Amino acid sequence: MQATQPTYFSQYGSLKLTRDVQGVLVVEFHSNGRPLTFTAQDHTEFVDAFYRISQDRANHIVILTGTGGAFIPGIDFPSFGNVADPAVWSQVHDEGVQILENLANIRVPVIAAVEGPAHVHSEYALLANVIVAGEGATFDDLPHFAGGIVPGDGIFTTWSYRAGAGRAEAFLLNPKPITAQTAYEWGVVAEIVPNGKALARARELGWWRRGYVSTAFGCPYSGAVDPAKVVEVALSLLDLGVDEVCFGDTIGVGVPPDVRALTRLAVDAGIPLERIAYHFHDTRGTALANVAAALSEGVRCFDSSTGGTGGCPYAPGAAGNLATDDLIYMLDGLGIDTGVSLAAVSEASRFIASKIDHRLPSRHAQAEEAQRKLEV
Ligand SMILES: [Zn+2]
Repeated sequence: MQATQPTYFSQYGSLKLTRDVQGVLVVEFHSNGRPLTFTAQDHTEFVDAFYRISQDRANHIVILTGTGGAFIPGIDFPSFGNVADPAVWSQVHDEGVQILENLANIRVPVIAAVEGPAHVHSEYALLANVIVAGEGATFDDLPHFAGGIVPGDGIFTTWSYRAGAGRAEAFLLNPKPITAQTAYEWGVVAEIVPNGKALARARELGWWRRGYVSTAFGCPYSGAVDPAKVVEVALSLLDLGVDEVCFGDTIGVGVPPDVRALTRLAVDAGIPLERIAYHFHDTRGTALANVAAALSEGVRCFDSSTGGTGGCPYAPGAAGNLATDDLIYMLDGLGIDTGVSLAAVSEASRFIASKIDHRLPSRHAQAEEAQRKLEV
């Protein structure tokens, strides 16, 4: 979707902002492409930057990270002027508070990917929902104590919040870098990864969402469903930021021509094939035929359930979902590599069958059961 970059992306000298099609915004702190030396100008600009980031609804996940193996390693103290001058301090203090408020006000998940030193403004990382750290990451608070400033503002609040007041005081008043391992033991860091892997891991954690359009082929209450309406709902789900839409034949009334028509209508409306999935119920025995129809249109993602278990609480008489065993049997036969082992699924089906008081709907499971009886 959002391929064009908003203007604020290029407005901040020390922030590199990039966003992928799924809305994952990566914010990299840097000074001319090298690890950031934090300046007074950054202090001013970050207020606005985090405000704009929080405002932009196209940002679905925000990842904060550094550059060149360092989160924020240094500070240009003289650039701030005389912080003992009340007028100077008032501005520094106001900006400091606003940066934190605007960061905290980002209304989507924020992940911090910390490599190397986070020695200046580590509270930016601590305000993230999840902190992933490279094993060589270190946390410290250079500016306050060493600069003659009491670390009583945001950095104290965030460290107290994450690690407890006692640890925060000890850490901030006797500044000595703590290791990623210590930060992990304190509950500040959620995960430690090998050096250089924090950003990749943060991207992995940037979760992926699928939205469902249920009763896409027919509704137990209103009858036939107009495919144009289904596509309209799918488009609004994508606008809300889902990564994939899944059309559900909740009551199992769809037939292959319906599947082909809906798929084409969706593609014509601009939904890429790789963002379309299907969820078929085998209520009237058409699930596998519908999969074949969707496959022929280029769809590659299908829901199914082991043994064909399931049903639907709001669709009276709904049969189970398409059985994974049957689906994999057919896809194996078509030479499509799914990475799913039919033998393993069958074993899971047998286990489920042994725990319930009725036969599983899966034809493959039934055939296997018959085969086993023959062999006994
Ligand atoms: Zn269903």
